[in-house]
Amino acid sequence: MTENCIFCKIAGGEIPSATLYEDEDFRVILDVGPAAKGHMLILPKKHFADICEIPEELAGKAFVLAKKMAEKMEKALHCDGINVLQNNHEAAGQTVFHFHIHLIPRWQKDKIGI
Ligand code: 5GP
Ligand code: ZN
Repeated sequence: MTENCIFCKIAGGEIPSATLYEDEDFRVILDVGPAAKGHMLILPKKHFADICEIPEELAGKAFVLAKKMAEKMEKALHCDGINVLQNNHEAAGQTVFHFHIHLIPRWQKDKIGI
């Protein structure tokens, strides 16, 4: 646990969250500022700032869990698509410096045409 890291506190249960799934390595929560209804975040319980820091084995487990949660998301929300997103460093839009994977459900009707 890294002091003053909000996701350490949420993943460890110190701060309550809307938890969708939990095991010994991860907690899956609803994003507080969802890009779409049902936007989930996969948080490892141990602190790693980004994809460069997280050990390969745990990164592998995180993406296997992302696949499982995506399958559940599709069944539960009947969405038409899912964005799996993972930002690293400020320049790429990372705002919380504790590794996390976004799962964002998408619907055809909301698709922006260009
Ligand atoms: P990033 O921009 O770092 O990839 O994503 C951070 C995400 O965490 C954002 O989508 C933001 O809405 C979400 N977030 C930030 N603080 C909290 C919080 O305290 N609780 C929850 N559930 N989500 C948070
Ligand atoms: Zn942390």
